[in-house]
Amino acid sequence: MTSSYPSLALHVAGQWTDHTSGGSRPVVNPATAMELGLLPLAGLAELAAAAESAQRGYLAWRRVRPHERYVILRRAADLLRQRVDAVATVLTLEQGKPLSEARREVTLSADIIDFQAEEAKRLYGRAVAPRVEGILSHTVTRVPVGPVAAFTAWNFPVNLPSRKLGSALAAGCSVVIKPAEETPGSCMLLVQCFLDAGVPADAINLVCGDPAQVSSFLIGRPEIAKVSVTGSVAVGKLLGVQAAAHVKRFTGELGGHAPVIVCEDMCEGGAMDFVLRQAVAAKYRNAGQVCASPIRFYVPRAHLGTFSERFSAAAKALRLGPGMDAATQMGPLSHARRIEDMERFVDDAIGLGARLLTGGHRVERPGFFFEPTVFADAPASTRLMQQEPFGPMAVIQPYDTLEGAIGQANALPYALGAYAFTRDLHAAHQLGEGIEAGMVGINHFGVSQPELPFGGHKESGLGQEMGAEGLLHYTEIKTITVGTPF
Ligand code: NAD
Repeated sequence: MTSSYPSLALHVAGQWTDHTSGGSRPVVNPATAMELGLLPLAGLAELAAAAESAQRGYLAWRRVRPHERYVILRRAADLLRQRVDAVATVLTLEQGKPLSEARREVTLSADIIDFQAEEAKRLYGRAVAPRVEGILSHTVTRVPVGPVAAFTAWNFPVNLPSRKLGSALAAGCSVVIKPAEETPGSCMLLVQCFLDAGVPADAINLVCGDPAQVSSFLIGRPEIAKVSVTGSVAVGKLLGVQAAAHVKRFTGELGGHAPVIVCEDMCEGGAMDFVLRQAVAAKYRNAGQVCASPIRFYVPRAHLGTFSERFSAAAKALRLGPGMDAATQMGPLSHARRIEDMERFVDDAIGLGARLLTGGHRVERPGFFFEPTVFADAPASTRLMQQEPFGPMAVIQPYDTLEGAIGQANALPYALGAYAFTRDLHAAHQLGEGIEAGMVGINHFGVSQPELPFGGHKESGLGQEMGAEGLLHYTEIKTITVGTPF
């Protein structure tokens, strides 16, 4: 046990509890494989209590005026900033990313909550001119959708819940949040910030349990009006079907397989340095466990050799270690299953003829470490070219024409993040318009910003989070039309 790790509890019906009917499971430090704590799991009794509490919380919170919601949520963001050291430490202990990355995640989460809090004041409606005599007004307004069941992945244990809690609460909804069972501690501390800031205790329930049971039970409950999930495409589809069966609103922030097109004009001298510096940092951030992580690099055929060699050398030079060590550039993968999955990607790619340039192995030390891995010339039939590896793995492919590269970038059913590097204004427009993705970054990887909508096209998702759009997905349109009494 680690003293800086909290004792774990669920927040159900207005209070923290570790007396639950669903048993418990250990939470493990991925840098050491040692247990950090025991997570109590919700059984059906706690899940029902959470849904009922969310309904009470909704009825209370939706009556709070938008300006007051803004004040409370801004206060929550400030508390999160004040507690950055404690929250980031817990995040790194349970998830593995370097402490500096964890700190950035926490402060960015505070900025996301701030932005959504501000947007609470801007939920505008409109007045429509009546077309016939005898009608006084038509008003089109936005109202909160109701209690939300929210499910989040383990790769950004504070950021992902912040997006959902920030937007849903700003809109006037209550939330039952289920963080990933691997990383509940930092989400607990986040929820405490909202409670300390003045969000009614019933407006936020935090549950963990058997994910399939929790999701199907909550989605089927009459109190729950909306489902929001950040996770894999497979789970997104499953929960989307369940939500549709009850005609419940659904937002899915799902997996990606981000392409990067490097244009000819960025392959010489300093320009290639500029691309490589950003590309390697973006690829191995959070050990590649990022939905918008660059995966497929498309490089002009004549430059494939140089680009691949330099990319692989930079990847190989990264310092691996526990996230709590200041010198660490890449931490462990989040759990043991990720290592096994990486090995399956590697075996499949080598078996089908891809060239392994560096890495490809687990690191023999305690914890779940895997080498930064780079492939080149992977056939389209490899798993790596078809499925999100969600780990420290890149593949470098040649292209002959820009149109061809855009075609390859668009070949998969996923379309979340995509990137391109060029100095040519015409090419920048061609790439921005031609690449199918929810977010296209030209000459940088920073597509995830509190002010910008974040979401995928095709199978990568439905709806957006953050930006002005984030809040709207937690509202419904309501029309009120008033006629003269007689
Ligand atoms: P996952 O799909 O296994 O789980 C996501 C969440 O859904 C977890 O809380 C999980 O417990 C829960 N869940 C609910 N019902 C479930 C069920 N029936 N079976 C399994 N889980 C269920 O995803 P993960 O492994 O936690 O996260 C990795 C995935 O998340 C990647 O595909 C990544 O690209 C994606 N992701 C997307 C975004 C985005 O914003 N688009 C951000 C981060 C991660």
